[in-house]
Amino acid sequence: MLNILIIGNGQCGNRILDAINREAFGTKGRFAKYLSQQKYKSNVQTIAINTAVNDLKEMKFTKAKDRIHTPHLHGVGANRNVGKHVFEDNKTLIMKNIHDRGDFDVAFVITSASGGTGSSFTPMLIRELKEKCDYPIYALVVLPFREEGTLYLQNAAFCLKDLRESGADGIILADNQFLKQMGGNVESAYNGINDMIAKRLLFLLDALDSEMMMVTDLGDFKTVMSGGAGLATIGFYEAEAEMPIKSVIKNALSPEGMLFSTDAYQEASRSMIILKGDRKYMSIDEVSSEVEQLSSCVGQVFKGIIVRNDELPQVLTVLTLESAMELENLYAIAVEAINYERQKKERVDSMKEVDRAFSQINGMDPSY
Ligand code: GDP
Repeated sequence: MLNILIIGNGQCGNRILDAINREAFGTKGRFAKYLSQQKYKSNVQTIAINTAVNDLKEMKFTKAKDRIHTPHLHGVGANRNVGKHVFEDNKTLIMKNIHDRGDFDVAFVITSASGGTGSSFTPMLIRELKEKCDYPIYALVVLPFREEGTLYLQNAAFCLKDLRESGADGIILADNQFLKQMGGNVESAYNGINDMIAKRLLFLLDALDSEMMMVTDLGDFKTVMSGGAGLATIGFYEAEAEMPIKSVIKNALSPEGMLFSTDAYQEASRSMIILKGDRKYMSIDEVSSEVEQLSSCVGQVFKGIIVRNDELPQVLTVLTLESAMELENLYAIAVEAINYERQKKERVDSMKEVDRAFSQINGMDPSY
């Protein structure tokens, strides 16, 4: 049995963590968090951390003892410098909470890259954990809608850079912009995206801790994640009716199945393909031919099969990326955003002229 730690930082991280707890505990209503047992084999511990108490209160499926409030007004207002100070002030409290839960085999830290709290806490927390613990730690990072504004873009660019330097064992990307085809208003898009991420992560945990027909384990996952440029993403497809397993695999590898826009055959460096479902769908010839096709493009592909009687096939793919065109695009617009903010600050600084004008009447009083 694996001991797994999942931490959600900031609003986005908290909400995705809550979606994971909802999936893991089952939807038995508001009291699920007090009553039910996790349906997963692993010992999964979850912690939500936030500066904004309202974001923590909003959680429905995460136990109160699993929520850490690091108070700072109503959040840090998308300011990563403030966020870093608040983390430093609360580091002892956070680390003690994690330490008291014992040892783990693997940890995931979930955050948006672009807000204030999660994007500043996550790299610092991972750095702290890597200094004290020897289990692998993966960041699961949500990228912003590109039209959300210059501060968010700037934060995303710096957060990812900080994460790469934090000692994290890998960064799994999910992209709001790419996933917004979920449709509906922002709230329902968020919920849809959060559910997608939760489902994929729980499938992965299930696979790492399963008695499989063909085995993939935490060791294989670590090897996959250590390939490429330290970046990864996850694809998934669930057959809604009977369909050949090769089509399910193709769909799980297609850009539409991914959490981040990528061409698996062009950009992946290593991969893991996990199939779940009734044995009758698992044609070994079809599976082998799909795996061979992918491995001829990307090199190493690990495969695992979890047999679940009477279940339609589902496929999860983990890909580490050698290159990421979409990330280069994001950085190109982030650079524009950083320049824009810098120029604006310079303009505001030069407005000190205005202060000079005001200062001319310092010490004077009006006479009537
Ligand atoms: P923080 O609380 O200061 O860490 O900031 P947030 O987590 O709210 O970060 C803002 C970014 O997260 C923006 O890019 C939002 O689009 C995104 N975001 C906020 N809430 C959610 C959510 O529930 N799901 C998803 N997918 N993205 C979210």
